[in-house]
Amino acid sequence: MRFSGTTVVVTGASRGIGRSIALAFAAEGAKVACVATKVENAQGTVDAIVAAGGEAKPYGLDVSDSAAVAEVFAQIEGDLGTVGVLVNNAGLTRDTLMMRMKDEDWDRVIDVNLKGAYLTTKAVMKGMMKARTGRIVNISSVVGVHGSAGQVNYSASKAGLLGLTKSVAKELGSRGITCNAIAPGFIETDMTHDLSEDFKARAIADAPAGRLGKPEDIAAAVLFLAAPESGFITGQCLEVDGGLFL
Ligand code: NAP
Repeated sequence: MRFSGTTVVVTGASRGIGRSIALAFAAEGAKVACVATKVENAQGTVDAIVAAGGEAKPYGLDVSDSAAVAEVFAQIEGDLGTVGVLVNNAGLTRDTLMMRMKDEDWDRVIDVNLKGAYLTTKAVMKGMMKARTGRIVNISSVVGVHGSAGQVNYSASKAGLLGLTKSVAKELGSRGITCNAIAPGFIETDMTHDLSEDFKARAIADAPAGRLGKPEDIAAAVLFLAAPESGFITGQCLEVDGGLFL
């Protein structure tokens, strides 16, 4: 019960990696605010947590909407108390070659994946500073570190998250707050569902681990970085990819 009594916010908690992160925190005693685009999308994760004896509440929010973030995070703090751990996991792709990319596909991906994390971090930092403790974990991607053809918007948003992570770590470190990133490799979720079997087979062959990742692989790394005893780790990016980019 490493997170007993801690209020944890997980964005993108309705499915995939975020759902797994929310379940893992709840299993360790946290009160989990499960955020998705619509409150009903987050309800399934909350039901699973409550059925297992945990505590969670669902919230609906577009993380790129500044006013909505301020309103919903105030509601979360009112319902569950000061946020001790923030996991910026909400994300989307609008993949195509840059030659064909529409400006709105660039804007939407940057707004959700990067501006969203800026807004939510801003919403929790006052409370964490007052408490003189806090953990922020941003879900970046290996393509933010290494680049990816057909994903200039997505990889730029994920690289931007790494800059945000390091700068927040520098700004808030003296207040007992850490900010780290995780760069997942290919994880089996809705986001990677449509990748061709050929592509998946190559990713498996190239990874020393010899398999694609599971959402639970990322959840375990998030809990490690969010744990009280990880207070001397900050501004880092942990690649959780089965060794794909070694
Ligand atoms: P996913 O299955 O597609 O789930 C995306 C989640 O983000 C959903 O909960 C979705 O909520 C939420 N979301 C999307 N737009 C949002 C918005 N504007 N406001 C609030 N929530 C929003 O994705 P995933 O594969 O679990 O990925 C989770 C994170 O890991 C993402 O940041 C992704 O970029 C990153 N990642 C994934 C992989 C991978 O291989 N899967 C690899 C590297 C990094 P709704 O259900 O309401 O739409």
